[in-house]
Amino acid sequence: MDFVNAAASVIKSIRIQDIVDMAIIAGMIFALLMWFKTRASRFVLIGILLLGGVYLAARFFQLYLTVIVLQGFFGILLFVLVVIFQEDLRGFFERLAMLGNLRKATPPLSDMEKAVGVIAETAGNLAKKRIGALMVIQGDDPLDRHLTGGVELNGVISEPLLASIFDPHSSGHDGAAVIKGARITMFGCHLPLSVNIEQYENIGLRHTAALGLTERSDALCIVVSEERGTISIAQGESLAVIPGASMLNEILEKYYTSYQPAPQARPVWAWLRENTKEKIMAVGLACVLWVAFGYQRDIVRRDFLVPIDYKNVPQNWQIDEPQLTEAKVIFQGPDQAFRLLDEKSLRLSLDLASLVEKKREFTLTKDMVNAPSSLSIADISPSKIRVYASKQVSATLPVHVVTRNRLPDNLTLQKIMLSPAKIRVMMDSRMKSEEINLETEPIDLQNISSSVAIALKVVPTTGVSFPDGQALQVRATIRVKKK
Ligand code: ATP
Ligand code: MG
Repeated sequence: MDFVNAAASVIKSIRIQDIVDMAIIAGMIFALLMWFKTRASRFVLIGILLLGGVYLAARFFQLYLTVIVLQGFFGILLFVLVVIFQEDLRGFFERLAMLGNLRKATPPLSDMEKAVGVIAETAGNLAKKRIGALMVIQGDDPLDRHLTGGVELNGVISEPLLASIFDPHSSGHDGAAVIKGARITMFGCHLPLSVNIEQYENIGLRHTAALGLTERSDALCIVVSEERGTISIAQGESLAVIPGASMLNEILEKYYTSYQPAPQARPVWAWLRENTKEKIMAVGLACVLWVAFGYQRDIVRRDFLVPIDYKNVPQNWQIDEPQLTEAKVIFQGPDQAFRLLDEKSLRLSLDLASLVEKKREFTLTKDMVNAPSSLSIADISPSKIRVYASKQVSATLPVHVVTRNRLPDNLTLQKIMLSPAKIRVMMDSRMKSEEINLETEPIDLQNISSSVAIALKVVPTTGVSFPDGQALQVRATIRVKKK
């Protein structure tokens, strides 16, 4: 019963954002599953999982060196994966971009049927005459990236046209002809070669090229062998000889219809029925992940020490140190919001523009804290702070000279003169200028052997600051006489 209640409360708390959240993750998981299904990437995945297992085991048994090395490896894993799968990633983004023009103009079905007939018949005839040929039927993926060379044609497909393209006496018979729908778009194209041909016995370049392209795209390639007079089909990473033209006709028809949904068929329904197992897995995994990580549980409270920024200090005012530097702020909100919170970016900004002589106490309010909108502030402590600040007025005050020790015995002091005798300082407005005693740093008389002039710093004292914040210097002229 508890479980039912918990489930009900989970379902009740689902928001639209959560559904979108889950849908995006499900889409990503689905894309990954499909990718693992069709590509040799499975081995890479298995490799990574194995390494992950070794890593966990190494952590468990505290094999420090292994852990460190593997951690380093996982740190660069993302880059390694990008390099390994750059082809796939490019294809993925190409397909993503193609989603926008799904409703592309495709020729009517009758034209396509005609094209299928022409291709099958031509292939059969070429095979009989032992004329080599390579035809590429383009699917959804753009092929430009994989093709080099070639002559643009864009002509309606027909048997004489295909036969003359592959006529060994013609200069364009070398390479592949590319067919898109009911048109031959290019011929004499050079295709990328496959490197995974160990499983096929003595295959030549034409077959390797057909395989190479289908590994990189969803195209279908038809190869007519001039040595053996056979017809082969390369599709999705595999190459197989087919018995004859009628079989080719069948395969092509299937291929064409899969890229040309019949208008009466409901494409959404058809799409839903494909790869059902992967879709269910993706949705299920997304839900599990959401419940584990995304589900909004109870509201929690946490407190943070938030630094206080004193802002807009009016001119002529000086903030006295030490000042309260942090306030304890209690935030409340869902756990996720705390997870997304960048604690270090939190600030409490206290605007001191309204600082006046008598008003020094400021109430800390919630709007002073730059909290994210997903979190609310339950409390700030202290609720009020006193700002220790003093208004500064300019004053010209005399400087008093300070001495230490005594002159050597053979000397008498005549006088010490300071220049300038008075200096301009900024002074706390609450103080009286008579109260302030500005002094120089002490002159050590013991070291004086004759009349000299030396530079002396004026010692900073409470309530006084120097303009520009720099210590001031005065010049002291010391007159002495021999006894
Ligand atoms: P066949 O069974 O017809 O002899 P094969 O697979 O043994 O075919 P080769 O004998 O090497 O292949 O055939 C060479 C022909 O394949 C070339 O004349 C050229 O037309 C074509 N060919 C070779 N490399 C490519 C390529 N990268 N892209 C397209 N066509 C190619
Ligand atoms: Mg050959």
